[in-house]
Formats: sequence, C-alpha cells, structure tokens
Amino acid sequence: MDKKIKVAVIGATGAVGQVFMWMLSDHPWFEIAYATASASRIGLKYASTVHWVMPLEMPKNIRDIEVKEFNFAAMKEAGVTIVFSALPAEVAREAEPQLRENGFYVFSNAASMRYDSNVPILIPEANLESLDLIKKQGYPETGFVVTNANCVTTGLAMAVAPLRKHGIKSIMVHSYQSVSGAGYPGLSSFDITDNCIPFIKGEEEKIEKEIKKILSIDPEVYAFTVRVPVLFGHLEAVWLDFEQDVELQDVIDDWNNFKVVCDLPSTPALPVEYGSDNTFPQPKYAFWGNPRGMVVYTGRLKKKNGKIGFLLLVNNVVKGAAGGSIQNAEAFVQRFNLI
Ligand code: NAP
Repeated sequence: MDKKIKVAVIGATGAVGQVFMWMLSDHPWFEIAYATASASRIGLKYASTVHWVMPLEMPKNIRDIEVKEFNFAAMKEAGVTIVFSALPAEVAREAEPQLRENGFYVFSNAASMRYDSNVPILIPEANLESLDLIKKQGYPETGFVVTNANCVTTGLAMAVAPLRKHGIKSIMVHSYQSVSGAGYPGLSSFDITDNCIPFIKGEEEKIEKEIKKILSIDPEVYAFTVRVPVLFGHLEAVWLDFEQDVELQDVIDDWNNFKVVCDLPSTPALPVEYGSDNTFPQPKYAFWGNPRGMVVYTGRLKKKNGKIGFLLLVNNVVKGAAGGSIQNAEAFVQRFNLI
C-alpha cells in the first residue's frame, strides 16, 4: 500500500485504547491521525497523561501524539476515515451514531449498538459475510458501525466456529475473567485481591445473545461469569452438546484446519491453537502468539456422556477487544477494495 489509511482512536487512554495505540503504532495499512480521551486530557501528550497498564513497552512513536477533543470537523481535517472506538457503552451510545451520520467508518468495542439488526458483530474467522450488513446502514453513501463481540463471547465463538458443522445443541460456559476486562481503574484492589467475584453485570446475557447472532445458531446457553485476580486473559471452561457424535480427534482436526480463513495482517496463521499438556492454557500466555494476543488457546479436551469439554484462553484486550476491531477494519478494507 503506497499510502496508509488515516484512523482515529476514540478513548485512547483506557485499557482497550492502549492496545489500539500499541497495535496501530506500526500497522502496515493504518496510521494514527487522531486520538481522544476525556476532556481533562485535551492538549496533553499521550505519554504524559496515560496511565500505561500494558505489559509491553509503550512504542516511541505514540508518546508525543496530542490528545484531542472529540470533534468531527477536526477529525475530517486530519484526514480520518476509520474510527476505532474504545468508549464506555454509555458514551458510545450517543457518540457512535453521530460518527456514522458524519460519514465515518466506525469499528467499536462498545455493546451499545451490537444488537441492532443492521449492525454486525464481526469476527472475520467466524462470520466474515456479516460485514455486508453495512450496506443496510447505507454504505457506501454513508458511514457505518461494525462492532466486535464481548470478550468472553469472542473466545467462545472462535473455538466453536469450526465445530458448528456438527450441530450445536447446547453450550455451557464458565469464565475466569481478568481484571483488565473491567477497564482502568476498574475494580477496587480491596475487592479483588486474594478473591473471586462471582458476578459480572450483564455478562452472561451478552454471551447468550451474541454467540447466537455471530454463529447463526440457536443452542441452549448456560453461563456463569466470575472475576478472578489475574491481570490479562480470560479462561473459559466449556461443555458442548452436539447433534452428531463427535470424537476428540474430530475437534482437534477442526481446530487445526481452521487456518487462514481470511488472510489479514492481524489474523494468526492458526487462530485456534490446541495444546495437549494438561496444564494448558493459562492466563500467563495471554500475550503469546503472532500477532501477540490474537491466538485463542484451547486445552484439557475431554468427552463424557457424548458431550465435549475443553478450556480456552482469550486475550480480552487484544483478540477480545482492540485487536479484534483492527482485524475487522482490515477485513472491511480488503472486502471493499479500499487497498
Ligand atoms: P476504560 O479503561 O474505562 O477506558 C475508557 C476510555 O474512554 C478512556 O480513554 C476514557 O478517557 C474515555 N472516556 C470515558 N468517558 C469519556 C467521555 N465522556 N468522553 C470521551 N472519552 C471518554 O474502558 P475499557 O476497558 O478500555 O473499555 C472500552 C470499551 O470496550 C467499553 O465499551 C468496554 O465495555 C469494551 N470492551 C472492553 C474489554 C476489556 O477487556 N477491557 C473487552 C471488550 C470490550 P479517560 O482515560 O480520559 O477517562
């Protein structure tokens, strides 16, 4: 590509915004032309105001980016076409439809528009065709909003997508979710240190709704979601009941063959990686893989009474959030020939 596409990161200082800034700092197709946060940070250099919580060094070329106000005219003047949104849902609810009306192509992490019938919840490996819903929003005459799934649902959808062909009757999922999933500053250390919290507001309902929309399936879904004292990465214990008889080797083969379904810069060569070691996977591997944090790891595979059980690990802030959004924007650019 001769010239990179100019993008904005809205909510650039939060847990997800930081991953956007890190991943976009050397992206082959996109360049950061605009970054916003809440009003108190406007005019400050990124490195001087952000509380960097990533376990990786802040890239040098984003340190001096000035945090700007949320202003459509200024964004247009800066040449922005694609907007990555890492806003809290209540702020996104107002801001994202306005961005769309102003002609921007919005890739959002917020839940506020996920369930609109003309808005895709896109995971390129699982439902690339859902991207065509943007035409129902008026593209190419207008802007659009594409969302990515809730972080737990993303991991689950990735592991289940290649198994869909066996017919999914029911899904049971119990999550062990890291604190970064609640954003920064998130939970009080007093509440989460040495403790687990067996309730995450709205999370179980999101999993149930989103897995059905993403995979176009209608199973019974049983979910418990638990916050655990881990920084990054959500672990999920999953049991699947199939319409057909499925052997353990079929599941391993399906995951191993689920490769390069879409050839995008942020898609790993093998997006779901199975490990047979009985201590695999663990949240401390959340930033493994290439690109880092984009692989969903599975393990502990077993079969009992016809049901298939396994554990999976998804990096909630990368594949489950900013990395997933960047991959969605890459899918859009490729599918609609913007390269
Ligand atoms: P966060 O850490 O709370 O960050 C929110 C960001 O939005 C910050 O940059 C904040 O700026 C900015 N912001 C807040 N209120 C604003 C306002 N009124 N006007 C302009 N900017 C404002 O949240 P997060 O965890 O990054 O999550 C961002 C979104 O992604 C949420 O919708 C969340 O549900 C979703 N999501 C999160 C995860 C995850 O694992 N964390 C995974 C999937 C989806 P300041 O720093 O200046 O306050």
